[in-house]
Amino acid sequence: MSSAAPPLPASYPARVQPAVICNLIDGCFRPARGGATTVAQNPATNQMIATVPDSTAHDVNEAVAAASRAFPEWSARPADERAALLMRLADLVERDLDAFALAESENTGKPLALARSLDVPRSIANLRHFAHAVMEDRTRLFEQELPQGSMQSTVLRKPLGVAACISPWNLPLYLFTWKIAPALAAGCTVVGKPSEVTPVTAWMLSQRMVDAGFPAGVCNVVHGRGPLAGAALVAQPDVACITFTGGTLTGESIARSAAGSFKRTALELGGSNAAIVCADAANDAHLPATVDALVRAMFTNQGQVCHCASRILIERSCWDRLVPALVERTRALRIGDPLDATTDFGSLISAAHLLRVASMVNAAVGDGARVLCGGERIPADALPERVRSGAFYAPTLLQDVSVDSNANQEEIFGPVATLIPFSTDAEAIRIANGTKYGLSATVWTRDDERAMRLSRALTVGTVWINGWMMRDLRVPIGGFRCSGIGREGGMDALHFFAEPMVVVRRTGG
Ligand code: NDP
Repeated sequence: MSSAAPPLPASYPARVQPAVICNLIDGCFRPARGGATTVAQNPATNQMIATVPDSTAHDVNEAVAAASRAFPEWSARPADERAALLMRLADLVERDLDAFALAESENTGKPLALARSLDVPRSIANLRHFAHAVMEDRTRLFEQELPQGSMQSTVLRKPLGVAACISPWNLPLYLFTWKIAPALAAGCTVVGKPSEVTPVTAWMLSQRMVDAGFPAGVCNVVHGRGPLAGAALVAQPDVACITFTGGTLTGESIARSAAGSFKRTALELGGSNAAIVCADAANDAHLPATVDALVRAMFTNQGQVCHCASRILIERSCWDRLVPALVERTRALRIGDPLDATTDFGSLISAAHLLRVASMVNAAVGDGARVLCGGERIPADALPERVRSGAFYAPTLLQDVSVDSNANQEEIFGPVATLIPFSTDAEAIRIANGTKYGLSATVWTRDDERAMRLSRALTVGTVWINGWMMRDLRVPIGGFRCSGIGREGGMDALHFFAEPMVVVRRTGG
């Protein structure tokens, strides 16, 4: 990653005044028509941190109209000019990295250290990556000699038009930029709809867009609730394509709505990701590294990453070594104030989400699951005073959970993993592939042949071997089955936003 953050200051000022967030439509900052607002909260403190436009179809229509007007000029601009604006935007975010990281931590409850080392640097990298990628995208030319003459076929890529970019709350700026950057680089104009739960960094980004010099209407940001503003955006007839990251049920409703007007859709949805741990990964030489990496894979961002490992398949012969070590390392996670530089594990996104996570754990326990650690809300008196009313749920490991139960079949999207023994590779593959999802998996072994054999047998978009979430932005990312349609990343993302078009020229004969 190109933007390594400097070390975290010892103390960080918490926000004093709530922000008043506006939509960015046609280059102007505006409240929702009619002035309706919702509020954004800091889930770690339960304090209101911003008022947010509660936009409706009116606002969405205005944003799409502005994006439609801006499209001819933007799509006709040379790619290097579009790339230069994205680079300028990246520089402004980098300049203000600390402010973005603080806002992301306050709006999500995630550790500030994580926002500073992952969310914001990765957002900057997204903007720079697609600025470079569009300069690497080559026009393809085919020449053919035929008895009756020769011809030259050129494959052009025509940007589709107005792109709707809808992003979730878990990695707000990271996933918002992951969508708008390729859309803008490819020559589309954009109407972005961040999650109403986490609008703050998208609002800050929209301010930097104006500062960077993006022309009016090229990138519009409409805040509001998914079923209202989001659904209106998806249904808007002048939207050409939709890129969505979020829950599988929402993805299904978007796919239905888009199908009638043949809008191109890319859907990055949920997962129930298996980690297959082979016995050699838990031998003396590798146990500490495996345990550290697995705990990171399970509990980064409080388990609220679509790729988090939630089903840990453990070869029986190493069960007795690995399980106590996982429990010990999980218990050692430092849970606390997200603004404290030593905190590993912060608040869930909301009290409502905590209740959902708790109810899935309680149901598993009701069905006979054994709680090895966690399994409860962190009591207020175990938390620092500033965050006592926050949505803190203990990192949880469960054993004896049937592979067919909800806890293993549905996405919990929280700090909960189940431990499942296996005896043969065939059994591990059957369990790993045995859900409706197919997003990602991890394989833990130093036996390269076995790792590749297991990887090839998995039906998922990404397999990491002996690691997790290492990401080359050039590779395609996405899921099988209910984990989504389409791929994001590198040229796959750029090409999503443009339709190939062929021009054939007779050149001789
Ligand atoms: P949601 O599906 O609830 O929301 C995602 C986005 O869609 C939000 O902006 C939301 O707005 C909006 N939205 C909600 N309903 C509609 C609708 N009817 N029409 C249009 N837009 C709508 O997901 P979450 O925000 O809860 O995010 C968590 C989910 O995201 C998890 O399932 C996770 O697995 C998935 N995810 C997948 C990733 C991947 O790469 N596959 C990466 C990261 C997350 P609002 O929030 O304002 O309601």
